[in-house]
Amino acid sequence: MVTGLTRKNVTETVARLRAYFGTDATRTYAWRRQQLDALERLLVERSTDIADALRADLHKHPTESEITEIGFVLAELRLTRRRLRRWMRGSRARVPLALAPASARTVPQPLGAALIVGPWNYPLQLLLAPLVGALAAGNTVVIKPSELAPATSELLGRIIPDYLDQQAVAVMEGGPEVSGWLLDQPWDHIFYTGGSRVAKIVAEKAARHLTPVTLELGGKSPVFVDGTGNLRSVARRIVWAKFINAGQTCVAPDYVLVTPDAQVGLQTEMAAAVRELYGDDPEQSPDYGRIISTDHYLRLTSMLRLGTVVSGGRKEVGSRYLEPTILADVLPTSSVMTEEIFGPVLPVISIADVDEAIAFINERDKPLALYVMSSRRAVRRTFLERTSSGALAINVGAAHLSVPGLPFGGVGASGMGSYHGKRTFDLFSHQRAVFSKPLSPDTLRLIYPPYTPRKSRFVTKLLRRLS
Ligand code: NAD
Repeated sequence: MVTGLTRKNVTETVARLRAYFGTDATRTYAWRRQQLDALERLLVERSTDIADALRADLHKHPTESEITEIGFVLAELRLTRRRLRRWMRGSRARVPLALAPASARTVPQPLGAALIVGPWNYPLQLLLAPLVGALAAGNTVVIKPSELAPATSELLGRIIPDYLDQQAVAVMEGGPEVSGWLLDQPWDHIFYTGGSRVAKIVAEKAARHLTPVTLELGGKSPVFVDGTGNLRSVARRIVWAKFINAGQTCVAPDYVLVTPDAQVGLQTEMAAAVRELYGDDPEQSPDYGRIISTDHYLRLTSMLRLGTVVSGGRKEVGSRYLEPTILADVLPTSSVMTEEIFGPVLPVISIADVDEAIAFINERDKPLALYVMSSRRAVRRTFLERTSSGALAINVGAAHLSVPGLPFGGVGASGMGSYHGKRTFDLFSHQRAVFSKPLSPDTLRLIYPPYTPRKSRFVTKLLRRLS
């Protein structure tokens, strides 16, 4: 991608945003509110352009874009706007009696200049949802869209300056080079969504300035199925979560662990669910996406050789089409089971029981999401207690991230930090401790030296009683 940007442009833009932050213009409730209103107008007025760009980049159906991109950000935005005044007020903390009389408060303050670097798979949502919180918290922001979703990147670069305060928000388009220049700047927060290889570069560069980072990463999110409950419904839920956006979703089920008695039935039901959602020939379906690039297409299609294709497997390189594919007989050591798939290939592995499934999951990196499909309460509780993952979703796939009250983020290799709803506001705020005491009565004198034996006895007694 040629953007004409230079390192100098990047440095100057960041300096300009910092200077603007220094004017205090972004701190007021009125400015924050204005920006949120403007962002809402952008999403509503330009929704057709956005849907067209997402169609061009990923062949997303406009309704899918409404559900997973535009509508998602609007919901975050409206919640934030409704609660903003309350969130800005902060909260009170209890003052220990030994320090009374006094007041203690947590006051959220903007951090300064924030950088948001996004991936290509949900190229609007994953930039604008963090932006909502960054603006609500009163920061200046640079957003860096992914070069692999060029239509969405170009659109955001063109329309954001028409709506948001140009002195506070800049879109800097480009690939790794521009991203590298941006990461060399001294930020107050870096919010990165993408793969773990680049996340390590981000963390290293941020460490040079001791900049805090949020890393929203991916990994292999497993599904466990024990065959209890309605298998058709289980299959439909897995298929929807897996094949939406042609499997290019960070929380997409990556592989299925199923007990031997249920394997054939589940595979049959999943193949039927694919036909139900996308027809006999998903290539003709207006609802089914395409692979983002030829490199990704080649990586994914090479995986088809690593198992037995149970259903799907048809492909077409020109349009980067890969049919929703279910794969059996995969080796745990093959790349389809050691790397994040991030596409429409779903390995199904037979596993003896809950204990073996848990051992299998716990031998690997902690996933972003873990899905348990079971009508047995004991099974669900066992997974809750004996595994770790960013999220645990029971009997449903990939829907938990639409609950704004739940933290969205990973643990271990799947990420660092979480956001959504109030958490995004908190993430882009410094939680400042404010403690205030009247000058009289000067009760603190009781603990000042000199520590005579009598005073020491008194202080020890007092503190122990009051703590
Ligand atoms: P990526 O890491 O390749 O790219 C993400 C961003 O990093 C892009 O903006 C890109 O320009 C930039 N970048 C690429 N190379 C860089 C470099 N050398 N230095 C600095 N910046 C660089 O990720 P991707 O392929 O766009 O996304 C796929 C990954 O993201 C998957 O692992 C997926 O699971 C994960 N993901 C996570 C979430 C989440 O919310 N947790 C959401 C979507 C995707």
